[in-house]
Amino acid sequence: MPMRTSEYLDRKIETATIKEVRKLQEAKLGRELDYLFARSLFYQEKFQAAGLRRKDYRGLRDLAKFPFTTKEELRESQAAHPPLGSHVAADLDDIIRVHSSTGTTGKPSFVGITRRDSKVWTAITARSFYTQGLRKSDIVIHAAGLTMFVAGLSSKDAIESVGAMFVPIGTGASEKAVMAIQLLNATAMHCTPSYATYFAEWVRREAKLDPRELGLKKLFCGAEPGAGIPAVRAKLQEAWGARVTEGLGNADMAPIIFSECTQQSGMHFNAQEYVLPEIIDPESGESLPIEKGVTGELVYTSLERECVPLLRFRTRDRVTVLDTSCPCGRTSFKLRCIGRTDDMLIVLGVNVFPSQIEEMILRCPALAPHYEIEITRPNRLDEIRIVVEARAGLDDPARAAEAALLAGKLKDHIGISAQIHIAACGSLPRSSGKAVHVRDRR
Ligand SMILES: [Zn+2]
Repeated sequence: MPMRTSEYLDRKIETATIKEVRKLQEAKLGRELDYLFARSLFYQEKFQAAGLRRKDYRGLRDLAKFPFTTKEELRESQAAHPPLGSHVAADLDDIIRVHSSTGTTGKPSFVGITRRDSKVWTAITARSFYTQGLRKSDIVIHAAGLTMFVAGLSSKDAIESVGAMFVPIGTGASEKAVMAIQLLNATAMHCTPSYATYFAEWVRREAKLDPRELGLKKLFCGAEPGAGIPAVRAKLQEAWGARVTEGLGNADMAPIIFSECTQQSGMHFNAQEYVLPEIIDPESGESLPIEKGVTGELVYTSLERECVPLLRFRTRDRVTVLDTSCPCGRTSFKLRCIGRTDDMLIVLGVNVFPSQIEEMILRCPALAPHYEIEITRPNRLDEIRIVVEARAGLDDPARAAEAALLAGKLKDHIGISAQIHIAACGSLPRSSGKAVHVRDRR
């Protein structure tokens, strides 16, 4: 039974049948290809190398004939054709803002947007926040990146477009955030799950308050996986007394593209008329059906992009489709991001995602989700060592017991034998942005 109209920001497209959405996407992809063939030097060269012509696309089933685009190609394109690369298809005069993708080393990788691109980003991002429960009456603390980060100023535009109040705090400003929450009676916060965890600790330690007393009702988490892991969500909801939902975007495609509805059971696809999603086998590149239980790499094709139109862009996000229907009435599929196709660790032949290790840590009541993973190969054999913080002071026997508990869980659930070192509460470095947990020293 679909909910009231007010439960959707864009009722028509959010409740459209899959067939209706596919038809719209099919027509828009044709127009996007016209644009690429006419305007993108980058794609003109790629299509020529692959022997593809515009007439090779007649319908969505022909998309698989077209090559993927990788982040490495975009970096090379920017280096060879400064300032923004040959994949930029708009005139520089028409670009109104430039962002850069986060979490990378070396030179920034720029992403430009035109005025129309900005409107599209605002529409998708607003729909994502609204799906998470953002309403006009909300006062939202933005405790995430604001400078260069794609989901900074774009979140401002989106939250304002819904009519809610945007409070630009930024990262690493916990004191300012507490004050703003209290003085403005804020109702919601947008941040990474790492920061939500860290900030709850900070509030207890420095402000001498229970985070629940701050009265936040909604936490919109994103920029890294975590908030959708049941154990992580439970801890965050308990700490803050707020509903935690997560979102997923991509620096090169749009700030937030998927987000959870209040059912909290996976992130809905929210860019129906703007982005065409695919899930592929990351090894073979084969396109997989979007059905419940399917796991693979998320790939995006923009359907309406002026500055950086991208075809079959490989995100390296490893996702699992959780469902293709939802009690909320939205018809788009739901997924969870379970890691990256390029951060998977192979330890003695076992595939391990850091997020899986984190989940096991959270199942140990005396341990905090602050940890470091170090992998070495001292005698030609992989060894994995995990340093994890205790929630409070533990004596030696308690430490040994907790280490044994975690080691047992890692062995039973993931199949790895790890050395566990329990560190003192607060001893590991904290991150207010993306958490870096892995040191692969092999
Ligand atoms: Zn839903």
